[in-house]
Amino acid sequence: ISVRQLVEATYDYIDKTEGKVNAFITLNKEAALKQADALDEKGVDPDNLLSGIPLGIKDNIVTKGLKTTAASHILDNFMPVYNATVMDKLDALDTITVGKTNMDEFAMGGSTETSYFGKTHNPWNLDKVPGGSSGGSAAAVAAGEVIAALGTDTGGSIRQPAAFNGIFGIKPTYGRVSRWGLMAFGSSLDQIGVMSRTIKDSALVLNAISGHDEHDGTSAAADVPDFTAALNQDIKGLKIAVPKEYMDEGVDDDVVSAIKAAIATFEKLGATVEEVTLPYTKYAVPAYYIIASSEASSNLQRYDGIRYGFRAKDVNSLKSVYVRSRSEGFGDEVKRRIMLGSFSLSAGYYDAYFKKAAQVRTLVKRDFDQLFEKYDLVLGPTAPTSAFGLGEKITDPVTMYLNDILTIPANLAGIPAASVPAGFSKDGLPIGVQLMAKALDEATIFKAADAFE
Ligand code: GLN
Repeated sequence: ISVRQLVEATYDYIDKTEGKVNAFITLNKEAALKQADALDEKGVDPDNLLSGIPLGIKDNIVTKGLKTTAASHILDNFMPVYNATVMDKLDALDTITVGKTNMDEFAMGGSTETSYFGKTHNPWNLDKVPGGSSGGSAAAVAAGEVIAALGTDTGGSIRQPAAFNGIFGIKPTYGRVSRWGLMAFGSSLDQIGVMSRTIKDSALVLNAISGHDEHDGTSAAADVPDFTAALNQDIKGLKIAVPKEYMDEGVDDDVVSAIKAAIATFEKLGATVEEVTLPYTKYAVPAYYIIASSEASSNLQRYDGIRYGFRAKDVNSLKSVYVRSRSEGFGDEVKRRIMLGSFSLSAGYYDAYFKKAAQVRTLVKRDFDQLFEKYDLVLGPTAPTSAFGLGEKITDPVTMYLNDILTIPANLAGIPAASVPAGFSKDGLPIGVQLMAKALDEATIFKAADAFE
């Protein structure tokens, strides 16, 4: 078929599906069809497997000339004048940006319920959340609207929605993929990654977007291997560690059973699996929420009603432009984080909160460094539960935050981590097994995930 036919079929299907799922904030139909025609004219390159492939892009990644909102009222009409580095890289390979996917406002959340543009529904069960914050990307892939999507992961936002939607999702090593053009939330934690139904599609897209970028001072100057070369390999002798804290109380029985079955599969494939301990796990959530919120309170200062997006009406002084635009423009969860972050960074409290959290972070990282001297991978559940109900946790932030306990450690340590589909709960909802590797060793994750699937 022609690229035009593929793109038209994609939008026809999206038209039928979006009424139920609401995975997209903005569709890019006109430009996508134009691009498809140009590609058909030029002829797709048979050696470039991404040429003409429809992708979803999370709406906190800036796309030149295509509205980018971070799912916030404060940016609901923001038109970027430049592309994120990842977008330039994808454009160079002729992928098609189908649209911008829904998310929690500024990526703060785990259910996509804090979006200014309405909730996304989990395609497996429309009464359940798709997870978050990259819930739109995950639901778009799971519903079959796109083949793959970009997400971002600060504390689990690629892996948890991947798990809730029964798809593959990978957060690469911090620094592997440029953050230039990603609207910053927690800059020392944020990382762009990929979600798709097949592992190979994620490997292809990660190949495309990885690599050093002079625009991002934290980008890693490391060679990027071909991640597809890790597929179809033998995993005999692979050493896997399972932290006992990851299978502890708070993790649903259904999830524990699925992970035990996954462990048995890995053993059958020739891997050795051993129980280990990561004693600082329980401190990861409080440390993360202090660090992420502190960084957010600083990063979000730029939304002042002057430079971008929404400005409150009928204001009579500069101060009231700031105060009213931010009060009206940000949602409750974003305000909560800004207040928490400003508090923990303030002079009298810095030592007790931010500094302590940074110290905990070092301990969490050290725990992993020690494990990776002996093991190739750390394995556990991606999330303690399968997808929860819409409305179930949104009124109780602490319960929502605790759902991130198993994903946050990888962000604190900066290591790569992925969620791989690993069966279903008793009520038919997908469960994900999480695989973590040492920094820059995404290839081992791809190898193990592919052998497992
Ligand atoms: N749920 C976590 C939070 O709310 C993670 C978000 C993310 O990874 N962007 O901060």
